[in-house]
Amino acid sequence: MRLLLVEDDAALGERLRARLTQEGYAVDLAADGLDGAHLGATEPYDAVILDLGLPRKPGLAILRDWRALGNTVPVLILTARDGWAERVEGLQAGADDYLGKPFHAEELVARIQALLRRAAPAQATELRIGTWRLDEARQCLVSASDATQALTGTEFRLLRYFMRHPGEVLSKTRLSEHVYDYDSERDSNVIEVYVRRLRTLLGPDSIETRRGQGYVFKGSSPAG
Ligand code: CA
Repeated sequence: MRLLLVEDDAALGERLRARLTQEGYAVDLAADGLDGAHLGATEPYDAVILDLGLPRKPGLAILRDWRALGNTVPVLILTARDGWAERVEGLQAGADDYLGKPFHAEELVARIQALLRRAAPAQATELRIGTWRLDEARQCLVSASDATQALTGTEFRLLRYFMRHPGEVLSKTRLSEHVYDYDSERDSNVIEVYVRRLRTLLGPDSIETRRGQGYVFKGSSPAG
């Protein structure tokens, strides 16, 4: 899952980026309104955290422009503590949720997780494949008998994206766009390597290759 964070307070932006990265998201940080507006209009994000008070272009104008262009990405706005009027305007402009400053990073993480769940309503709260459950907090797989299987950061992000889009044909380009942030070297061939590794963990039929198109996540009994 890839997030865009638009926040001009440099210290807060870096702190939130570090926290969200630690939670297993690929995060792009934009420090002003024009950069944020551009990234949000051109890169495929799974959710956006948008501060409203921004230099060069206010958050509300950014949000209105995205919605006018048909961009339906889930957006959580950050507002001033007593900014009830701002929150109303933000929700009317198409925000999906809001958080008043100051806030605890834990609450932001929980709200982003809820936004992403709502954006993929077919999915249950728990992500499962065969007898495995994906533990999003610990970023590992847990078996029915509570044994854990560790995942690397990239394996975790890729598997979570697959699990949120079962049955869909996902191209290597789309997968790499959602698994890596803007600054990462995005070699979509690397996705093949990770898919092979996930098949070893989850069973050969868990991810089907559609030649020339990409992959389809099936889910199946785990190998072994
Ligand atoms: Ca601000």
